Amino acid sequence: MKLPSILPVGPQPNSPVGDDRFHDECGVYGVFGHEDAAAHTVLGLHALQHRGQEAAGIVSYDSGQFHSERFLGEVAENFSAQDVIDRLHGSVAIGHNRYSTAGETVLRNVQPLFAEFAFGGLAVAHNGNLTNGVGLRRRLVRNGSIFQSTTDTEVLIHLIAMSPLTDVIDRLVDALRQAVGAYSLVALTKDILIGVRDPLGVRPLVLGQLGEAMILASETCALDIIGAEFVRDISPGELVVIDDSGVRSMFPFPKSPERFCVFEYIYFARPDSVIEGANVYEARKRIGAELARENGVDADVVIPVPDSGTPAAMGYASETGIPFELGIIRNHYVGRTFIEPSASIRHLGVKLKHNANRYKIANKRVILVDDSIVRGTTSTKIVDMVRQAGATEVHMRIASPPTAHSCFYGVDTPEQSELLAACNDVDAMRKMIGVDSLAFISIDGLYRAMGHTAGRNDALPQYCDACFTGDYPIPLTDREDGEAPQQLSLLAEST
Ligand code: SF4
Repeated sequence: MKLPSILPVGPQPNSPVGDDRFHDECGVYGVFGHEDAAAHTVLGLHALQHRGQEAAGIVSYDSGQFHSERFLGEVAENFSAQDVIDRLHGSVAIGHNRYSTAGETVLRNVQPLFAEFAFGGLAVAHNGNLTNGVGLRRRLVRNGSIFQSTTDTEVLIHLIAMSPLTDVIDRLVDALRQAVGAYSLVALTKDILIGVRDPLGVRPLVLGQLGEAMILASETCALDIIGAEFVRDISPGELVVIDDSGVRSMFPFPKSPERFCVFEYIYFARPDSVIEGANVYEARKRIGAELARENGVDADVVIPVPDSGTPAAMGYASETGIPFELGIIRNHYVGRTFIEPSASIRHLGVKLKHNANRYKIANKRVILVDDSIVRGTTSTKIVDMVRQAGATEVHMRIASPPTAHSCFYGVDTPEQSELLAACNDVDAMRKMIGVDSLAFISIDGLYRAMGHTAGRNDALPQYCDACFTGDYPIPLTDREDGEAPQQLSLLAEST
């Protein structure tokens, strides 16, 4: 999806909590063969809103014409009006939710991207990141390509345009064979809907059915919202072509060991989704239970950092028998527009979004459960809030191993130097966050919770767990080629 995965990324200015989280960077959706294709795509994107809130777009096709509506902002802000949906004629459509860094939030980067080729029109929407996107782009520019966005989705568009092959599927495969990285993408021509997952299957993509219509979606929660049935996951390395004759499947890439992103289970995916056969909510509870087995502590109450820490905290409480309480209440109505980009108000972020439920905290020994620690800024503020509410002890338990490495596979993460775990051992982190004890689930514990009883080394398939282990399963080609400075200048020129 976006090119500048190797840019230093600071806290998002419009976040109510300083945005001390990894961010998934896109949700994709596609409908083939339904008279309300655009309306269903709006609903699907709404269900996938957690995967990207900065922009959304839909392209549909009808009677010789593609229709495109793309906006900055959330789905409900821009696609609620009937006239917008009415402009997206046709029984086929694809859509995209985007999360982006502040400097890139420009309309030209909003997907799906659409281009006219010798074979006709093609719209593409992409979740992931090409780790050789900058190098490919440089080569394309040298050969005369003119870019209009900073997305690596446009790199794919140019590669498709340059392909000497004639068939659109062959051209797409030709383009993707030159790409290195993680991607789940959907594409639309006048008569086919295409879905593809990269050979390692890092990002999710599922196939669903609604009557005669076929649906592609990043997660199953986006099938549920329209009442579609889950058919199956698109397999790693699989390309599906959906047309009037049905669904065709092909595997046009060299086979690789699967490496699905384990962080999807920990944080990114919606808890009601089922991915690769596992319900995300149940996975989080199992992770919490394993965390408790590994890192028990005597306390009076288990409290989640809402919302993403909640299932893990339930698993932790159930395993230990310590009561689970909602000791921190999240204000769900803190929206993007509420926050002004001024330091004087931004430091209030945590209090705007969370408040301590004093009645459940005062005079108690508290175990706080969260999904992860990124920079540690939010954790520090939440711990301070819990202490001010009268906790006698605060113990923090984290439902992921220490996040010590950046992600380059379609997730917006800080530079490694900004990650608390990259530069500090657990005891140093404990002191900085201000807790009486701090513990993380081990990497083997995480794998055990995901059903691999012997831990990471015996797990087949393994997950991508690079942000914990530094074991990057896909080459970081641009970074190894020292492309970061050029990438910065490309961005600066184009935004
Ligand atoms: Fe997921 Fe791998 Fe990225 Fe971590 S490094 S967020 S496990 S894709």
